[in-house]
Amino acid sequence: MDTINSFLAINLNYIIITLMVIFYTLELVLNTQFSFKKRPRHLVHNLLFQIVLFFLVYLFWATVTVFSIEWLNKNEIGLFYMINMPLWLKLVLGVAMIDMVTYWFHRVAHRVPFLWRFHRVHHSDTSVDASTNFRAHPLELIFWFGTSNIIAAAIFGLDLLTLGLYFLITAPIFFLEHTNLRFPAWLDKTVGLVFTTPNMHKIHHEQDQYYTDSNYADIFILWDRLFGTFKYKPIQEIKFGLREFEDEKKQSFWWLLKSPFMNVKRIDSEQLKKMDMGTKKNE
Ligand SMILES: [Zn+2]
Ligand SMILES: [Zn+2]
Repeated sequence: MDTINSFLAINLNYIIITLMVIFYTLELVLNTQFSFKKRPRHLVHNLLFQIVLFFLVYLFWATVTVFSIEWLNKNEIGLFYMINMPLWLKLVLGVAMIDMVTYWFHRVAHRVPFLWRFHRVHHSDTSVDASTNFRAHPLELIFWFGTSNIIAAAIFGLDLLTLGLYFLITAPIFFLEHTNLRFPAWLDKTVGLVFTTPNMHKIHHEQDQYYTDSNYADIFILWDRLFGTFKYKPIQEIKFGLREFEDEKKQSFWWLLKSPFMNVKRIDSEQLKKMDMGTKKNE
């Protein structure tokens, strides 16, 4: 068990740093889909989130998660304890179930105004690239999404091996989904029948709320297709961010860290259309 504990606490950070270096380099040498805005500044502000997260998530929350799951396992709590199945099937189903629970947590975070205050930090990025993966409010990740893993483990009877596998699979997926590289539309029509493609997650970052409130799944877009939240639009037409966060000062780490405690009115699809029509008239 000690191996898994240290894996969750330390090794995942090495994996994340390595992935960041790989994707940052790819974005430098390959053709990007969108143009960058003040890239070095953008990177520094997003990295600051990861530094805070390192201390809070990996040094504190990983311990809470490990203790909770070990206790659940010792008491054999959860559905999988009632069914006999081979290890591989347990792992595949386990990862799929964590993904489904996270899907619902994510969907609720868009729907409940108090939770949206924290989650909008991730959506505020007007220039989505590999570093956007880091931009998430620490309180949201710890007290909200951190809890989703423990809840999934309690419902389905998952162990630390399944959770470790889930982290290992999602680490590169999160970078792929945010990276500013070009992905062909045929990928969406094939792989995208089951899995969330980078283009599909970018639609989730579109500033029009009609699209922001769609494509919630991290691994399996199947959940969105099944629960009626799948939406699609061509990648070239996407405009990132939230209109209410477009101001330069609202893109800084400190401002975003404080932003859940400030009243920032959400601009919905109708209001956005009116604002866009106003800009066009003035042109
Ligand atoms: Zn979201
Ligand atoms: Zn995202």
